[in-house]
Amino acid sequence: MTHNILRVALPGPLRGFFDYLPPADADSDACEPGRRVLVPFGRSARIGVIVACPQEAGVEHERLKAAEAILDHAPLLDTQHLEFLNWCAGYYHHPAGEVIGAALPLRLRKQRKALTYRAQVLALRVPAPEARAACERAPRQLAVVEYLLEQPPATVSRALLRAHLKGGAAALRPLLLKEVVEEREEERVMDEQALAVAGRVASPEPNPEQLAAISSVEAALGGFAAFLLQGVTGSGKTEVYLRVAAAALARGESVMVLVPEIALTPQLQQRFQERLGRGVVLLHSGLSEGEREQRWQQVRTGLAGVLLGTRSSVLYPMQGLGLVIVDEEHDSSFKQQEGFRYSARDLAVIRAQRAGCPVLLGSATPSLESLRNAQLGRYQLLHLRERAGGALAPRIDLLDIRDQPLKSGLSEPLVEELQRTLARGEQAMVFINRRGFAPVLTCYDCGWISDCPRCDARQTVHRGVNLLWCHHCGAQRPIPRQCPQCGGTQLHPLGQGTEQVEQRLGELFPGVELLRVDRDATARKGSLEALLDRVHRADAALLVGTQMLAKGHHFPNVTLVGALDADGGLFSADFRAPERMAQLLIQVAGRAGRGDKPGRVLIQTRYPDHPLLQLLSRQGYSAVAAMAMQERRAAQYPPFSHQALLRAEANLAEWPMRFLGQLVESLGDVAPVELWGPVPAPMARRVGRYRAHLLYQSQQRDRLHAVLDRVVEAIARLPTARRVRWSLDVDPIDNY
Ligand code: ADP
Ligand code: ZN
Ligand code: ZN
Repeated sequence: MTHNILRVALPGPLRGFFDYLPPADADSDACEPGRRVLVPFGRSARIGVIVACPQEAGVEHERLKAAEAILDHAPLLDTQHLEFLNWCAGYYHHPAGEVIGAALPLRLRKQRKALTYRAQVLALRVPAPEARAACERAPRQLAVVEYLLEQPPATVSRALLRAHLKGGAAALRPLLLKEVVEEREEERVMDEQALAVAGRVASPEPNPEQLAAISSVEAALGGFAAFLLQGVTGSGKTEVYLRVAAAALARGESVMVLVPEIALTPQLQQRFQERLGRGVVLLHSGLSEGEREQRWQQVRTGLAGVLLGTRSSVLYPMQGLGLVIVDEEHDSSFKQQEGFRYSARDLAVIRAQRAGCPVLLGSATPSLESLRNAQLGRYQLLHLRERAGGALAPRIDLLDIRDQPLKSGLSEPLVEELQRTLARGEQAMVFINRRGFAPVLTCYDCGWISDCPRCDARQTVHRGVNLLWCHHCGAQRPIPRQCPQCGGTQLHPLGQGTEQVEQRLGELFPGVELLRVDRDATARKGSLEALLDRVHRADAALLVGTQMLAKGHHFPNVTLVGALDADGGLFSADFRAPERMAQLLIQVAGRAGRGDKPGRVLIQTRYPDHPLLQLLSRQGYSAVAAMAMQERRAAQYPPFSHQALLRAEANLAEWPMRFLGQLVESLGDVAPVELWGPVPAPMARRVGRYRAHLLYQSQQRDRLHAVLDRVVEAIARLPTARRVRWSLDVDPIDNY
């Protein structure tokens, strides 16, 4: 009998799969899709994943090389999951090897040995009621049975049992003899912790709107359904998540919860862990490679019932998936912006569809894409209109600053309002979406400005570290004392960032607890938590920060929020700018008055009559979204059409445009798909590279994708493709 061929996906930018003969000594059982395999490639060996085992190779048999070794003793990815990943690769027109690689933790892409082993484990041999009945009058034995039932896959190693249950080992023997418990071989994760944390805490009684949302989702468990939970900030969306997650766990299913990176706070983690009895596993960027793989393995094998993670978690295998939740579904961090440019929010829906389970997207400020899906009946809309626990919605007022002198961005009326808030022993927050001291340094003598040498952008002034710093490429230099152009000394910062506002507030309110929250201030791991703790304990306090302030944290004593530079989004060329601006302002506003005192929001603006700001302050997000939806419909922008952006960049200015021009020419007519470009990108130079792009748009998704298939094929034949770096962004959310 001849062995089948191993078709292998290799992580990396290579399109297509590679065929190998099985290793000489391999068991034919071991040759199955989903296991990793070590294969010769060029002069080195690489780790790949078997995706299929066809009878015939795609190339002549004589040219096939043999794989060196099969690395796993069981598939890491089952066929259903491999099909999902393949679908993703097709949809995003991205090399499947890289997509499959993204579903594995980094360690498994580099290290041969996985952090799992086969071990003898203890498991119940009979159904739970029977097992309990067999332990009547034997409380020690009953304790073992209950302990087993509590463990996520209802199995446990002898070692863990011994460590966690006093007298467990002794009580085990009669249970084995009675054949209530058996010992069998299973795959275990190394260094496993007892994940069952049954520390259940009291939970608030859901209000009627929460109940309605909870029962809709609960009723849908067991089949695919998509829900959009639109709940104002503080309305108890997380409470809804916890309840429906518990319901899925009770059915023996597992739950995936996706959150934006900066919303993954210890507060949220604690809330999930306290409330859900089965193991909650957290995946975030701060883990070591080993920790990451262990947690990934716990989720894959079903040892953990809840995965709480950021974007990339949507690609991970999960045993018995029964519910997918995406919190803050509008958040742009769900879109991967380099390499494999997927939307975790969109893939969450596909994933649920394929797993046959409900998906719940939640936000106070849903994206227009999701609102459109709700209008079309694809998503069922669930509303939470009031804040939970009796807190009132904050009042949003516009503060006209046309005739106001500003000091470090702060107007006099705002400063007075801050003063009154602090005097009452309450806390206030000042929001400015720019970190650093000032966005530009300029020379009053000759007009020099702090351009980045590598980008079409300015270097930001950072006083704390005494640097000019480009936020696009990271280029830094010390803040000059003299003008680099004329040698003058009249160098002045223009505009404000968080550092400057912090400094000014410190001068205005000496002695008041003052905390800055932005990427610079929180760079050190754990430092944010310590600082936030101080604010939680204080009475009067001031917080100043970027959008990092807007997410996740719950400050019951904040009653005033001031937004300083709201006007930027009003006149942007990006058609998504109004939506983004409204989302940001509502999220920031949502920090006010979450406790028992009412909150107030002051938005400083030079355009108090602008319709967007008027709607926002008087009627709230839904009204702004409705207006933006009309504009998008009129212009036929997404969600009324679908887009794909082809980007190209090179060290020489002419290549990107030439490459894209040749591509357009070689494809010929693409109607009815529309084509814009090639044009230089809005930021035409970045990190020293010149950039251009080409936008495809169509009302029909399948037409667009048919053209994209041709684009990828044509690029493979274009000689100029080797002169540029190119990438295809399907459903782009940014075109800079
Ligand atoms: P969201 O996620 O919508 O911003 P949260 O779920 O964080 O809102 O809820 C805000 C606050 O209200 C939390 O402190 C939460 O414990 C509380 N809360 C939620 N639901 C209820 C309820 N039904 N009754 C009382 N308090 C509630
Ligand atoms: Zn000068
Ligand atoms: Zn730069």
